Amino acid sequence: MDAVMELFRSRLAERGIPLSDRQLEQFQRYYELLVEWNEKMNLTGITERAAVFEKHFYDSVTLAFYADLSTASSLADIGSGAGFPSLPLKICFPQLNVTIVDSLNKRITFLKHVCTELGLESVECVHGRAEDIGRLPKHRDGYDIVTARAVARLAGLSELCLPFVRKGGLFAAMKGAQPQEELDEARYAIRELRGKLDKVETLRLPEEQSERAIVLIHKTESTPKAYPRKAGVPLKQPLLK
Ligand code: SAM
Repeated sequence: MDAVMELFRSRLAERGIPLSDRQLEQFQRYYELLVEWNEKMNLTGITERAAVFEKHFYDSVTLAFYADLSTASSLADIGSGAGFPSLPLKICFPQLNVTIVDSLNKRITFLKHVCTELGLESVECVHGRAEDIGRLPKHRDGYDIVTARAVARLAGLSELCLPFVRKGGLFAAMKGAQPQEELDEARYAIRELRGKLDKVETLRLPEEQSERAIVLIHKTESTPKAYPRKAGVPLKQPLLK
């Protein structure tokens, strides 16, 4: 095992997430596919191996430091792009039933290929806008945990994500440093969508030291019929008051 892999393994083991050789091989294969497909389509600006392991893989798994993924059954990732954070989480917690929603079909094709190559089962990759998919009975008010990383500001993002969360479930928004202004802006949207802010966890990436925040919001009731509004509206006219 080389130094990048050794560091990745020990950093996660320190946080109570031990990885088997097979799981490490899955991360390595994921890295190779990401770089290979990135030459044909725009998946990521980060391709240097150590950086991918820290800024994409490790960063994705930090969600599990604050939400109990070992007992969760279902997780939805809205606007997953090249698979973050859901695929690293699925590799670490193979019992999870994962649903990925992304509006760009090329990325969905990539994600399906990654799942086949890595032997990841129970991952459904759905092509569509979250506003439309979140209205389907199969996906509405149904997931234990819903997450999104780098998709939109929290006010609009809440309308894309909270409709997927079951009553009593969790919406975990993965944010960069200093999310306070976004949080203040999103207060009304969160309440209107039947969420309740639980807490904001902050961390630093261990090597690069950049700051991250994970906003944890609990769903208190089913989603009101009016939401989500028509595709495009939540991000263009977020619920503000
Ligand atoms: N979550 C990934 C990450 O952290 O690297 C990708 C972030 S990328 C900046 C945003 C992704 O959200 C894109 O893949 C885009 O296609 C998707 N997206 C944007 N709006 C969406 C919507 N309304 N419904 C579904 N996917 C959406």
